[in-house]
This record gives sequence, structure tokens and C-alpha cells, in this order.
Amino acid sequence: MEHSKNQEALLRELNQFTRRTHSLDEVYIFDLILCDNDIDRDGDCFSDTALDELRKRFVGVTGIFDHDPRSGNQTARIFHTELSADPERKTITGKDYVCLRANAYMIRTAQNADLIREIDGGIKKEVSISCAISQKRCSVCGANLLRDACGHIRGKDYGGVPCHTILDGVTDVFEWSFVAVPAQRGAGVTKKLGGLPCDPEKDALRRSVGRLTETVGSLTDALRRDVIRLCFRDGSNACAKALAHAAEHLDAEALLSLRKSLQDGLAAPDPAPQLPSAPAAPSADAGSPLSAYRFGRGEG
Ligand SMILES: [Zn+2]
Repeated sequence: MEHSKNQEALLRELNQFTRRTHSLDEVYIFDLILCDNDIDRDGDCFSDTALDELRKRFVGVTGIFDHDPRSGNQTARIFHTELSADPERKTITGKDYVCLRANAYMIRTAQNADLIREIDGGIKKEVSISCAISQKRCSVCGANLLRDACGHIRGKDYGGVPCHTILDGVTDVFEWSFVAVPAQRGAGVTKKLGGLPCDPEKDALRRSVGRLTETVGSLTDALRRDVIRLCFRDGSNACAKALAHAAEHLDAEALLSLRKSLQDGLAAPDPAPQLPSAPAAPSADAGSPLSAYRFGRGEG
């Protein structure tokens, strides 16, 4: 069998992990993608630092084939890892796609011949990793959600980017395995969150705060639209635009106060004030005030 130079180099690296030196015919070498920097199905994504830490820590780590009971004793070991960038491909947030690639090996035996054929045939493609992390940060405000809740809603759009959590502070890696349904789009990852012990009561509270936050969020959005309509009630001059732009960044309390001022201000000079509960609808050419507001968003 003819082996490429690349394979020979990989074999030298591999042999650092074995008790005796193996030849290329005795081992089965394959590569896999452990994880990447894109947002996964759980709305999480690894930071660049976390990916690099995983790169260092996964060398020498054993993998298992947990979906086949016959292969209970079959393991493979990672002997080389590297970060691989693909500038042609972008993540959901618009960054260059980067994945963590690994080379793994198995010693060929009669028992794992079927498994090797499955890997070769691309049947066992999906990989899952488990690791411990100390930080799970909100992509909008940076709060470490393992310690504090924040008011941002995962998956909701903030300035063109969906809110997600950034996994950082890798403290340990445990194992990797082939699984049927991975969490990550490009590879697969199951995350064991380190740092804090599991507390069901706290989890329930967090979920309840999450639901309340969502409700307050939609009420605030409605209030904001209301205030912006009031800003443009007398036409879309520069002052109205600036005020509407500012309203985009105000919280519920400030919006309530601004709405009151706008309603009072409008009510006073007007001999026939309109009821606050019936604010002027946006003009028929609805685009003009709202597009000014949308335009402003990018600058903030
Ligand atoms: Zn946040």
C-alpha cells in the first residue's frame, strides 16, 4: 500500500501516544470536526479563545462510539488538532467560519472492522464533544448567564444579529463521541456546564424570569412604537427624527416618561386635543417616518 507523506507525518505524531511504534497498516486514521464558531441549535457559540483552548485540550482525548452496544470497548484517540478557517463561509453573525479539526486513530482489530467500514462510508459522521466551561455570556450585554440573568431574549434580533450565548472559559474537556443528532450545525457538541452545581429551584426561577422578561419586552416594543408615532405626529422634521432615534435606545421607564411629555406637549397648545388612547396612525405612506427610524438604527 502506498502512503502519502502527509500520512507518514501523521503516523509519527500518532506514535507519540502508543506504547510501541505502529505501522500505517496497523492503525486506522480518520479526521473529524469537533466543533466550530457558529451558533448551534441551542443558541450557543464558542468564542475564539474557547475554540483555541479546546484545540489544545483535545489532543490525546479518547472518543467512544456510544450508539452501538456491540462496540462498547471500541475507542479511538485524538492525536492531532488544528483550527481550520474557511473565509468563503460565514457564520450566522457574519464572521469567517472556523472549525476545530482533529485527527484520530484506532488500532485495527477484527472487532472494529465493521466500525471502520462505517466511518469510511460516512455513516458515523456526527461528532459530539463534552467540556466544562465557566462562562456563558449574553451576546448583547455580556452578562455571564451561569451567574446572572439578563433581559435579552435568545434568538431575538438585536441590531441585525440574533441574541445568542457565547461559551468561554473552557476549564476541562471530557470526551468526544459519535452521535446521531449533534447540537452544532457543522459538527456536534453537547456541553457540560461547569462552575455551578445544578439547582432546580434556581432553574425554575430563571425560566419564570425569562417568561416575564419576554412579556415586558413585547410591551416595551409596543410602547416604543407608540412613542415613535407620537414623535412624528407633527411631521418628520429633524427634531422628531432625533427624538425617535433616541426612543429606540430607551428602556420602558424612560419611554413611559417620554410618552407622557409628548402627550402633554401635544395636548397643551391644541384646542381640540386627541385622546392619548387614540394616537395618530402612521401616515398612509407608512415608510417615511419608520424608514427614518430604521435608518437611524445602524448608527446606534
Ligand atoms: Zn443580555
